[in-house]
Amino acid sequence: MPVLSYVHQLFNADQCHAYIHTLRWKDRLLQCPRCQRLNVGPWGAYHAQPGLKRYRCKAQGCQRTFNDLTGTLLDGSKRSVMHWILAIFLLCLSCSSRRIARELGVHVRTGYRWCWWLRNAALSYEMERQLEGTVEADELYHTAGQKGQAKQGGKRPLGRRPRGRRKKREPGRGHYDKDRPAIIAWVSRQGAVVLQATKDFTVQTVQKAAELAVHTGSRLYTDSASSYRALKGYVHDSVNHTQKEYARGDVHENRAECLFSLLKPYLRVFRGLSKTNLPGYVGFFQFLRNFRQLNAFEQAELILQAALDPMIASRAKKGEFVQCFDHFELLQTARN
Ligand SMILES: [Zn+2]
Repeated sequence: MPVLSYVHQLFNADQCHAYIHTLRWKDRLLQCPRCQRLNVGPWGAYHAQPGLKRYRCKAQGCQRTFNDLTGTLLDGSKRSVMHWILAIFLLCLSCSSRRIARELGVHVRTGYRWCWWLRNAALSYEMERQLEGTVEADELYHTAGQKGQAKQGGKRPLGRRPRGRRKKREPGRGHYDKDRPAIIAWVSRQGAVVLQATKDFTVQTVQKAAELAVHTGSRLYTDSASSYRALKGYVHDSVNHTQKEYARGDVHENRAECLFSLLKPYLRVFRGLSKTNLPGYVGFFQFLRNFRQLNAFEQAELILQAALDPMIASRAKKGEFVQCFDHFELLQTARN
């Protein structure tokens, strides 16, 4: 086997751990992760993880040991930090979890779990994003079924014939129950984007989505879909595609359409999506898009920094950031 297939072993363990050390304690002093006191000192090293330093809290009543990974997403992993760093880098190059698993030599399920945790960590940067100024909006219906939703894995527990990944579209407008949920894109002319996967495209959903994504009072340019026309709280103008009108002076939504032309090939890589996971994929694409000025290494550093924050790590493992992206759940609870 070529040496390059062990690329993570070419990394220097000491350097990687020094890098993780600076990244984790960059914004705070070295402190005990349990009692937050600063009275800590070095306490040897680990046999199994060369390069990882151990510390001990000297405070009375605590005296516990910890290391640079305690409480982070990487905590307790059997794989080295070099595996993780490479995985994050490949994730930023929009590789699928299976591809990452193969390149790293880890199990497919490990790759899948890592990808979800890391995507969730990246979403922590996108929680507060709201657009203002001139914003374009457009919607897309994406085929997404029940991939990977069988209870014990495998095909039988689905309770029906497996339909395969090339799911045929049902006629008419897409809907979550028809396995074709909607994706709404809000693109600011200043460059930032917000993407939302929604169950349907009704007036209520679009109103709620707009309030979350766009500052009230902003100028909105859309196509002539009726759900946009009913929007309240925005200065609205639209082009009529059915009359072959795609731009009228400043009024157009070409940026939003362009964004979809980038989103579609990004989602194709995964070879079929589960509709429950769609908000996570779409949210991560939003992260990549909003930090597109950075190269993949710099994006990976942002994600690693989030993954090394114990607060973000515990929320990312629970998938809390994605659930906030799932606006229909919010909508449904509001209605009940
Ligand atoms: Zn302590």
